Amino acid sequence: MQTHNYDVVIVGAGGAGMRAALESSARARTAVLSKLYPTRSHTGAAQGGMCAALANVEEDNWEWHTFDTVKGGDYLVDQDAAEVMAKEAIDAVLDLEKMGLPFNRTPEGRIDQRRFGGHTRNHGEAAVRRACYAADRTGHMILQTLYQQCVKNEVEFYNEFYVLDILLDSDLTAAEQPAAGAPVRVAGVVAYELATGEIHLFRATSVVLATGGAGKVFKTTSNAHTLTGDGMALALRAGLPLEDMEFFQFHPTGLAGLGILLSEAARGEGAILRNSEGERFMERYAPTIKDLAPRDIVARSMANEVREGRGCGPRKDYVLLDLTHLEPAHIEAKLPDITEFARTYLGIEPFTDPIPVYPTAHYAMGGVPTTIQAEVLRSNTDVVGGLFAAGEVACVSVHGSNRLGTNSLLDINVFGKRAGISAAAYAAEHEALELPEGPATRVVAELDRIRNAPDGEKVAELRQTLQETMDAHAQVFRTEESLTLALETVDDLRRRYRSIGVQDKGSTFNTDLLEAVELGFLLDLARVVVVGALARKESRGGHFREDFPKRDDDGFMYHTMAYARPAADGDTEITLDKKPVTVTRYQPMERKY
Ligand SMILES: Cc1cc2nc3c(=O)[nH]c(=O)nc-3n(C[C@H](O)[C@H](O)[C@H](O)COP(=O)(O)OP(=O)(O)OC[C@H]3O[C@@H](n4cnc5c(N)ncnc54)[C@H](O)[C@@H]3O)c2cc1C
Repeated sequence: MQTHNYDVVIVGAGGAGMRAALESSARARTAVLSKLYPTRSHTGAAQGGMCAALANVEEDNWEWHTFDTVKGGDYLVDQDAAEVMAKEAIDAVLDLEKMGLPFNRTPEGRIDQRRFGGHTRNHGEAAVRRACYAADRTGHMILQTLYQQCVKNEVEFYNEFYVLDILLDSDLTAAEQPAAGAPVRVAGVVAYELATGEIHLFRATSVVLATGGAGKVFKTTSNAHTLTGDGMALALRAGLPLEDMEFFQFHPTGLAGLGILLSEAARGEGAILRNSEGERFMERYAPTIKDLAPRDIVARSMANEVREGRGCGPRKDYVLLDLTHLEPAHIEAKLPDITEFARTYLGIEPFTDPIPVYPTAHYAMGGVPTTIQAEVLRSNTDVVGGLFAAGEVACVSVHGSNRLGTNSLLDINVFGKRAGISAAAYAAEHEALELPEGPATRVVAELDRIRNAPDGEKVAELRQTLQETMDAHAQVFRTEESLTLALETVDDLRRRYRSIGVQDKGSTFNTDLLEAVELGFLLDLARVVVVGALARKESRGGHFREDFPKRDDDGFMYHTMAYARPAADGDTEITLDKKPVTVTRYQPMERKY
């Protein structure tokens, strides 16, 4: 078993991981571990844009941006974090521009900006042009630009290395926890090399989690196959809390039946949602900004149209995204990729025909809780020394209960950068710890168990049941009954998972084995999502309870902190705690658009 020594280890080579790596590698000996080749990370699939109040095309400022983010998140946003993000947005975009990112330009040569849902002028007066973009390939350009910079700066990458455990110097999985204020530190991580099946130990003073989202908990999702929430699940298994996991974003415009994303940029450029009567129904739900209302509101409105019988198609189970009134040349220039998706996957010509769309699971608002310096919390107040997180895996919380479009590419740049700086600073001030006894014992035992299970349960079967259950019972609309059903199924699947098996027993490129491991992560996270959703008896942002359709600030204006604690039967149980929301300047108000 090889042991590698670094000051900083970054887990994940998406936008957050590579932005962190650029800062950290300039200051400390840094390695980036990624289960994917870096440019295959999901950041590369992001389409529509990255926002910043540059005010290049119309009046705008960071305060309006902060307000929109807080209101968009249905007031569950930590407002100090949102302020940081909106202020640092401007430099985040300019940093990328200086690195060579080819943003679309105005005729005068400035970075062009377009409209996106929930981004408004003067606290909700009208939609504002705040999203910087490179056609509908903004994430692709960000990822390529960051990767080029990492190569130029000789960042060390370990590609196709799966991190399967986080090593701490204290056991946080026991019922008995270290006292408040007691120091707990990270010592390193355990990784599995896909090419050889070898286990590698990485000893590091600082570790940054940047492993992205967990959309594969659901069946209909815009997320890539690899988005299995690894960092979140590893944190949970290490005894750390997860924050606000019940809040999942369903993006309004997935291709119907497939979930493949059509960017909100389409509506930003003027596309309109229509029901079977041809009605622009968003006029009823959000009279001021209509189709550019935040995603939770648009997704719910669409689902409601379908429920009330105004859906389209033979099964009346989708609505239409209409671009036919836009100039083909304009669509070609601004939305080339997504229009091609409609042609390729649905055989629809968007110049002449409206596109069938329905909400698709898109973004995890929750994740590993952090401070605004990206330090990972082990309780409401204590951090884990040397452990940081940024990007979709983390919950700072800038998105509250519903993220605004283009705020994630921003989040990964702002907090990725902060994580890289914090991790290097911590490494400069501390010595690395020795690795704990038998550092890879847990990982090796788990892999052996899966590899050696005779006639084990099948990964594909369990995953399908999980995803179909979550789609049916924990999606846009939720009730006590549906969530209870979901929890029963997830619990049953977790039991069956104990005898999971794989056909491939080999050690080279054993993707079967890793998919089995990833399924374990998904099951653990689905349980946290559902337990949190059952406990939150109100509707807020992406979490809508039909049996409690109103937001309830008296009862539920707090972040959920979920922990996996030992249970009597030898398994774990999810226990929930509350964390106060940081309010600086905006008192919660009714959310009208
Ligand atoms: C189709 C689509 C379109 C989007 N469009 C936009 C948009 O226009 N604007 C916007 O703001 N947001 C958009 N988003 C959201 C945004 O792209 C993501 O939230 C963001 O890019 C996540 O970045 P990240 O760096 O946190 O994670 P990712 O880019 O997903 O990277 C995760 C990294 O972690 C690594 N990793 C994961 N698990 C492990 C493990 N166990 N061991 C080692 N490495 C691991 C992976 O290899 C990968 O390198 C979009 C998302 C999707 C799915």
